[in-house]
Amino acid sequence: MDLRPVLAAFLAVLLTSACGSSAAAPLGDADGFIPDNGSVSPFDTSVTAIRNLDPALLAAVRQAARDAQRHGITVQVTSGWRSKAYQQQLLDDAVRKYGSLAKARESVNTPEKSTHVTGKAVDLGPTDADDWIGRHGTDYGLCQVYSNEMWHFELLTAPGGQCPPQLPNAAG
Ligand SMILES: [Zn+2]
Repeated sequence: MDLRPVLAAFLAVLLTSACGSSAAAPLGDADGFIPDNGSVSPFDTSVTAIRNLDPALLAAVRQAARDAQRHGITVQVTSGWRSKAYQQQLLDDAVRKYGSLAKARESVNTPEKSTHVTGKAVDLGPTDADDWIGRHGTDYGLCQVYSNEMWHFELLTAPGGQCPPQLPNAAG
């Protein structure tokens, strides 16, 4: 029995499904991609996700990170500037995960609305750093924007000022 046609058909299915699930181009540093479960120092300018951040936001994060370090807390950036393509991919992934665009939008913004795309937002970690910045961030003008994202900060007030009321989520 000649198995070649069967094998060929099998390979065709494999290739189709592989291409179908990875329609988006692989993301790299130029998209602001930080590898999964990775994080980088806010002082690491070799990383595009850091380099493309709004200079005022980056300066505030660095000052906060220096002061947090004095309290034994290391502040890392888990996500910074992102390309539109990267943001779209995050949204597409969220739609697949949550089953609808409306649900996905509660945790992921569109490329048009995302402040990561404009370099005006950072996601910080780990949790003790989020907690520290959450309590002391206003000293640097850094505000938690969404109630459901304790890691997402933007420069929304003057140092020592008051942050605007938090939105319930990214869809709010
Ligand atoms: Zn964020």
